[in-house]
Amino acid sequence: MKVAFLNLQKLNKRFETSFKSQFETFLNKGHYILGNKLVEFERVFAKYCNVPYCIGTGNGLDALTLILKGYITLGKLTPGDQIIVPANTFIATILSVKQAGLIPVLIEPNEATFIITAKTVKQNITPNIKAVIITYLYGQIDGMDQMKKLCNQNNLLLIADAAQAHGAKDQNNNLAGSIADAAAFSFYPSKNLGALGDGGAITTADSILANCVRKLRNYGTSKKYTNEFIGTNSRLDEIQAAFLIEKLKVLDIDNTKRREIASRYSNEIINQNIKLPLWNNSNNHVFYVYAIRVKNRNHFCEYLNKNQIGYVIHYPIPPHKQKALANEFKNQSFPITEKISEEIISIPLNPILEVSEIDYIIQVLNNYTCSD
Ligand SMILES: *Cc1c(COP(=O)(O)O)cnc(C)c1O
Repeated sequence: MKVAFLNLQKLNKRFETSFKSQFETFLNKGHYILGNKLVEFERVFAKYCNVPYCIGTGNGLDALTLILKGYITLGKLTPGDQIIVPANTFIATILSVKQAGLIPVLIEPNEATFIITAKTVKQNITPNIKAVIITYLYGQIDGMDQMKKLCNQNNLLLIADAAQAHGAKDQNNNLAGSIADAAAFSFYPSKNLGALGDGGAITTADSILANCVRKLRNYGTSKKYTNEFIGTNSRLDEIQAAFLIEKLKVLDIDNTKRREIASRYSNEIINQNIKLPLWNNSNNHVFYVYAIRVKNRNHFCEYLNKNQIGYVIHYPIPPHKQKALANEFKNQSFPITEKISEEIISIPLNPILEVSEIDYIIQVLNNYTCSD
């Protein structure tokens, strides 16, 4: 049997009828940018996240950058301020800080959850630290009560990189997008809520920030051809908004399906050579990916190749080791992050996996021996 890591064509085929009808309406209307569909998506996604404001953006990186630039515009951050970010995140989290003219301070995650903790943030607080960006990595929310408390006590802004966590709920049943001061989402096609192209959004309960980033994403415009701020062009297209409205309708069903598959993996993959992700079986995880750890990863990859099971490594080289950033972090090491990056590997987990494919993956993983 051959199992792709993620078959996007098949994933989106489920929406063929509604997408075609949305496209026809779109084509007949002739309004492509900043129209009714974007307004509607912003309304339904804000409602979904149980948060007052949603602002569509061109992508997830821009959503993060715009939050930071929004805070700078409002005087809550100043260029040169230091921002705590996880060392083991997707590079976009760190790039957003740099693009906003701020300084990223990397910290290690909890090795069991892959997420940064209030304890480690606390150890890294100095007078120069003004904000924390937490990534809900792989789709999991953890430790937000303590993180919010710590940030409040120390007057730090708390921003969530929720690009992998659409629909995840914390222990108080609060949804990703409604917990931190502001959150950034990506609708990159492979994400739990994925567009048919690039897309992103900011969610927040802060009306002043919402107003500001709404202008910043559109040339800093408050009224057409009136530029109040130095903005940028990062808008969520009408057609993507229309597709996302359709896909949002099944996000909860898809996330439940993801958790069901994760439960099967967690219960049925029994192999001392494979370390499974820590999860408390709650809705705090939406399994953007199911990331396992193996000691000799090259060997394991060959085994998956031989058995025709797709995989992706999230992420093989940590940001501080990337050529683009290596100079900036040359005197720093992050042993936990580096160890994770050497051992981590994501196996197929998505809402369109067939039962036979899940059975096959479990069987192949259970038959893995390091000496194959
Ligand atoms: C996908 C992703 C982003 C960036 O999203 P884009 O839409 O690709 O710009 C940022 N952070 C994390 C954690 C992501 O997974």
